[in-house]
Amino acid sequence: MMRALVVRAPHDVDLESVAAPGAGNDEVLVAPLLAGMCGTDLELIDGSIDPAYVRYPLILGHEWVGELMDDVPDVAKSGERIVVEGVIPCGVCSECLIGATNRCTTYDEIGFTRPGALAERIAVPRRLIHPLEASVNLDDAVLIEPMAVVWRALSRFALREGLNVVVIGDGTIALLAAHLIRRFRPARVVMVGRRFAQEPLAKAAGADVFVTDVPQELFDLVIEAAGTGASASTALALAARGAMVILLGLPPHGTRVELAPDDVVNNDIVIQGSFAYTSQSFTEVVEQVNAGYLRPSFLITHRYGIEGAVDAIDVLRGGVADDQPRGKVVIALR
Ligand SMILES: [Zn+2]
Ligand SMILES: [Zn+2]
Repeated sequence: MMRALVVRAPHDVDLESVAAPGAGNDEVLVAPLLAGMCGTDLELIDGSIDPAYVRYPLILGHEWVGELMDDVPDVAKSGERIVVEGVIPCGVCSECLIGATNRCTTYDEIGFTRPGALAERIAVPRRLIHPLEASVNLDDAVLIEPMAVVWRALSRFALREGLNVVVIGDGTIALLAAHLIRRFRPARVVMVGRRFAQEPLAKAAGADVFVTDVPQELFDLVIEAAGTGASASTALALAARGAMVILLGLPPHGTRVELAPDDVVNNDIVIQGSFAYTSQSFTEVVEQVNAGYLRPSFLITHRYGIEGAVDAIDVLRGGVADDQPRGKVVIALR
């Protein structure tokens, strides 16, 4: 048996003792060391995520780093620290064959449709393991998964340098977007948040300006990372002619917003969604972390043990003082 953070059904989440997994064919056992929690975990807990993308009961945990419990020949040895692609591609469908592994026709993802890493053990496909360099800090590595989500969105179509960028939202995905867009040498990055307490994190991440009112100007690149219908509307309203609007936030299933199609046409706007990450984008982020180019650990503001997981959920729901910043919430599993 092992301890794990389990969502039995929507609104029913608790630390439970469950059967520890064994390694199936082509799988290896991993001991999770550190796991992040995010707004998507709240949607999984609340049952507000599209039912096509979740299977209950569910062990949470899709942002994590762990230690291999067995050798994986030619990849890594027992005891080495690794990260694992959470989106499990079948490798043979039409989407996988063109590299769009995030759209694999058989959707399967760690922490969504199969057990996550907020547990003492997890069984994962050997082929999706990525070893970490010994020099990599666990606090940086635990952010690889959400960085891969942002990186895939930013690198899907070629972005030119010198863009005037606005990021809507002040949560971890927004902060990581402000951080990763720096790799594309923008002219300026404005972050539109809800709480002034997030300003120091926003500046550390790479925002030049942090505001809580919607700016009275238009932008070449609009990144929506707040995940509400209102913020998606704001994103569309802030697009300059020729702009790209990237929708990264995930509003509750069924949210609708108004759209003026003639503005999209007349203003030559690209509206881009981006789902999860491809094997390639995950690999590119691991490479940049292993090389020391990406060190986002400054975003971690809250740290708990597994017994504090329910407190962590409370912090994610906004249970922080008005003047306290909230970045990434992590759970140490060992
Ligand atoms: Zn997440
Ligand atoms: Zn596939």
